[in-house]
Amino acid sequence: MVLAQLGGSISKALQRMSNATIIDEKVLNECLNEITRALLQADVQFRMVADMQKNIKKVVNLDDLAAGHNKRRIIQQAVFNELCKMLDPGKPSFTPKKGKPSVIMFVGLQGSGKTTTCTKYAYYHQKKGWKPALVCADTFRAGAFDQLKQNATKAKIPFYGSYTESDPVKIAEEGVERFKKENCDLIIVDTSGRHKQEVALFEEMRQVSEATKPDLIIFVMDSSIGQAAFDQAQAFKQSVSVGAVIVTKMDGHAKGGGALSCCCYKKSCYIHWNWEHMDEFEVFDVKPFVSRLLGMGDWSGFMDKIHEVVPTDQQPELLQKLTEGSFTLRIMYEQFQNILKMGPIGQVFSMIPGFSSELMPKGREQESQAKIKRYMYMMDSMTNEELDSSNLKLMNDSRIMRIARGSGRPIVEVMEMLEEYKRLAKVWSKMKGLKIPKKGEMSALSRNINA
Ligand code: GDP
Repeated sequence: MVLAQLGGSISKALQRMSNATIIDEKVLNECLNEITRALLQADVQFRMVADMQKNIKKVVNLDDLAAGHNKRRIIQQAVFNELCKMLDPGKPSFTPKKGKPSVIMFVGLQGSGKTTTCTKYAYYHQKKGWKPALVCADTFRAGAFDQLKQNATKAKIPFYGSYTESDPVKIAEEGVERFKKENCDLIIVDTSGRHKQEVALFEEMRQVSEATKPDLIIFVMDSSIGQAAFDQAQAFKQSVSVGAVIVTKMDGHAKGGGALSCCCYKKSCYIHWNWEHMDEFEVFDVKPFVSRLLGMGDWSGFMDKIHEVVPTDQQPELLQKLTEGSFTLRIMYEQFQNILKMGPIGQVFSMIPGFSSELMPKGREQESQAKIKRYMYMMDSMTNEELDSSNLKLMNDSRIMRIARGSGRPIVEVMEMLEEYKRLAKVWSKMKGLKIPKKGEMSALSRNINA
């Protein structure tokens, strides 16, 4: 997955710079050149990359930095800030409010992932307590209504469409009317696409837009078009007032970086993510995104997941353990249980600092899930005393052999699991003293971690 590779390459470049005995111009240039190469490989525009390099060099003026300054940290921070600047998509033209009816119209070329995304967008909000509904105004593509109907039924979302009516404007109007009467607060209208941009598509979009008066028009774009994304978005914007962009298929394309950076460049759009599965829909938030890209984790997203998945009465205890910073094998076991439960495992892992790159390489989620389960079998063969100890002093050869025998796993795997424990304990200890925000205060935490 290209973004994971990009993140890995940038982190490696920063790590190499950090490991250098002396930070001089040569080390800085090498680090920046490596980052430049990684961004260009991810299809980010040359001009943007060159600007970023220039800006970092302006901020990190090694000659002016007196001895005692933490040059490594200043460079890391400058890279983080520049990436955030580069990838900041700006604000959406409209933010729907729960309980108040909003009409959201989806536009885009055929095959971009519009219909799939409509349902994911609805499902994402439904999980957060909204009352969404789907209207299929795509009468151009045979099977579009069936697809939306199938998706909506699976997600238990009300839908509207017709097999016989060929006028998309009429369907859109009727659907919006009906769901307004039913007090739905997020009425999503899926429109037709075409294989390429053409007059008929834009005219139809305009008519549907005039008839339904959408509060927000979302342009859905396939990330594989890379740097052409910007021109495509502009062409759509000239016909209807696009207020947000959703980039799809970020799970598989080498040009994801190009599409993403082009959209963000003019700060004229607001981006959501759409990964492959129904659950994997995410609002793009630049700081947590860059943190995760660089393997620094996204605590605000993680906390949101905790609030979503961990039963309310267990949350305080878990958060308490986090802030205490002491980590036992039992805590690791419980966290693995939570992670398996939290679903789309890749997403959850990438939010936790330290967990992301090593235990859970992107694109190998199934493998990692199986590994976690094996680790849990091994821990099932441990005594309470072993599980509750916050160091591994008890783990002598005979205990390790007993755990291996008990779980039916090779000794080397038990050792590997204990190594993983040591690594995670180190990460966990960094959380000591962390101020845990209440729900709704997540961004503050994210700022603390990233600052
Ligand atoms: P539409 O013509 O714009 O409505 O596109 P569809 O929603 O029918 O999607 C076209 C194809 O892309 C379908 O096979 C979808 O399963 C697939 N698709 C949509 N979104 C994603 C995504 O985020 N990742 C991947 N891998 N496939 C996607």
